[in-house]
Amino acid sequence: MREDGLPARLAAFLRRHTLWEAFAAVILPLVVLLGLQFVWLKRLQETSAIAGRAALDNYLEAIGSEVQYFYRAAAERALNIPPEVFEEGRLDQVAAQWTQKPVKGAARLFVVDFTQEMYGSYRVYDEESHRLIAFPASDEAMAIISAANPWQALRVRRGRAENLAISVDERNPDFRIILNPITDDAFRIVAVAGMILDVEFFRRTLLPEAIRKSLPEFFPRGAEEGLEIMVKDAQGRLMLGVDHPADEAEVVISRFPFVFGDWTLILHSHSSSPVRWARANFAINVTLSTLLATLLVSGIILALRAADRAMRLSQMKSDFVSNVSHELRTPLASIRVFGELLRLGRVQSPEKVREYGEYIERESRRLSRLIENILDFSRIESGRKTYHFEPCDVRRVVESTLQSFDMYLKHNGFTARLEVSGEPPPRIAADADALGLALHNLLDNAVKFSGDARAIEVRLAREGDEISIAVRDHGVGIPAEEQRKIFDRFHRVSTGLVHEVKGSGLGLSLVQHIVQVHGGRVTVDSEPGRGSTFTLRLPIGLETPAGPGGPPASGTPSDPSRGTLAEGGQGA
Ligand code: ADP
Repeated sequence: MREDGLPARLAAFLRRHTLWEAFAAVILPLVVLLGLQFVWLKRLQETSAIAGRAALDNYLEAIGSEVQYFYRAAAERALNIPPEVFEEGRLDQVAAQWTQKPVKGAARLFVVDFTQEMYGSYRVYDEESHRLIAFPASDEAMAIISAANPWQALRVRRGRAENLAISVDERNPDFRIILNPITDDAFRIVAVAGMILDVEFFRRTLLPEAIRKSLPEFFPRGAEEGLEIMVKDAQGRLMLGVDHPADEAEVVISRFPFVFGDWTLILHSHSSSPVRWARANFAINVTLSTLLATLLVSGIILALRAADRAMRLSQMKSDFVSNVSHELRTPLASIRVFGELLRLGRVQSPEKVREYGEYIERESRRLSRLIENILDFSRIESGRKTYHFEPCDVRRVVESTLQSFDMYLKHNGFTARLEVSGEPPPRIAADADALGLALHNLLDNAVKFSGDARAIEVRLAREGDEISIAVRDHGVGIPAEEQRKIFDRFHRVSTGLVHEVKGSGLGLSLVQHIVQVHGGRVTVDSEPGRGSTFTLRLPIGLETPAGPGGPPASGTPSDPSRGTLAEGGQGA
């Protein structure tokens, strides 16, 4: 019963295309993976740009926090004066404290005492006399007065000051003031202590220090990444760093959180920006993945090709075994029968005796050739095959091969014509036996694949620097797509006479090997139904390794004789 339902046909199709299925099984997931990876990398690029920017922002914030921490700590230390000091009129204690512990970062320290006068008594600390002194009208005095003004107003109103905190007054950028209101137990303002900030100290000492301190925390390789900080005041004048005409995207801007609130901190990295880092990362990752995928695919293709070749080879080898067995079995059976008949004296007529004898001789020769082919093949495969190059007359080789073939040709009704055209070909360095074997294989094929045709032509000619030996038949011919493959070991054209004509599939691969050892090539010119011409071309200039007439040598200068038989044919 024939199984030609859809499942059966599908199963057969799948069996036939195993390698393609294996390829698809690897490639499809790979393509999906690559696609997913691309999407992930794209997403990563976006988030890492944001993260990179956030890191820069955090760095600037850390500098701001460092500055804030410094001034708050300084204010806490210097300006937290107990209310009793004012209530008991012990202002000299304040001066003594400030003398003992000078306040870094302060250009001027002052107090406004509301315990003695309703509108406050204003005193600044004089560093020379180490005392609190009254001060004359000046811009500085105006700044202090206007900064203390809200507290003065509160005092006059006798209001309660709850939730007190250190405050900052930067209305006059030349006199930036930190104020600490001091209250009694009933939250009434007793005094205000304050400090005017030393701008130069901030610019030249505190800020560079804060920048230095924060950098390694955020960017261990800060200097390499080309990060640079600028600080500008409210008018855009550069206070720190070097001015760069920077691309807007590369700049991260931040402000100081406590004092110097009108100054800006600008970070820019002249080597790259977060967006560029992310883009570069993306490009590197995509390139690496593509490279890896390409390598992988190439590896898979190579592996699959090797597997395909191995599969085909194993198929051909099993065909080879069955072909050779067939080819041995039939003539051996006949030889045995004829031998037996002769031994038993059953054949009386001398003609029959001669006929049987001829058959036995002919078939034994053929079998010897076949075995020689197989042995040669095995020697070549294992690298043990050697060639003996000697000055050799190619015409003689051709003639003697044809002669040894004569009986076989005649028996099969063939006529073989040798045509030597042009001037006689010169002697070349060659292994005559090997050339004879090659020619023999071509003639054998011409006979086997001649179909009904019975004419074979052999043409010997000198063509430029080459000697060409062409064997032409008028038989079945070879389809164009097969013409390269027939030189592969074990390959036999699977159409036409292949089932009737037995063979090993080794003949042409041996021919090709022999010709290549001689530095030449073999070509085929064929058309299905119209016959084939196989041409051996041997270079004339070939020297024997030991010189003409020298001792027999093995191999040639370009010695493929020790290699294995190539699988890729060299057809026309
Ligand atoms: P074999 O002849 O033992 O099969 P070969 O290697 O000599 O092995 O030839 C390989 C195949 O090439 C043959 O099986 C045949 O299909 C094809 N071939 C060789 N010579 C001829 C020819 N003269 N005409 C047609 N086909 C040929």
